[in-house]
Amino acid sequence: MKLQRIAVPYLAGQPCSVPGCTAPAGVVVALVDKYPGGELFGEQDFTCPFLCHRHRAENERRRIGPGAVPRSDNQYPFTNRAGAQGWSAYQPCSAATPVGRRP
Ligand SMILES: [Zn+2]
Repeated sequence: MKLQRIAVPYLAGQPCSVPGCTAPAGVVVALVDKYPGGELFGEQDFTCPFLCHRHRAENERRRIGPGAVPRSDNQYPFTNRAGAQGWSAYQPCSAATPVGRRP
């Protein structure tokens, strides 16, 4: 899915957003939700814009909540620190393109 908003554009050399982690970012973190009768809505998670592959795996392993369920509440160890409804999703950094930019 195309994200509606990119808070922190991916640049080469971007590290993981977990404090103290120096691993390269592997994925862009998105906060995704779906309203009744609507389409999927997703924007970059400004509270944790990037994760390395190890922290992505840990983020899902330690998730408390149903995951990809519309209007759901999920708690993650690293992402969605603002506690918004919806779920975390991940896109490869190589595919991250700022909104509005031509290919
Ligand atoms: Zn990391």
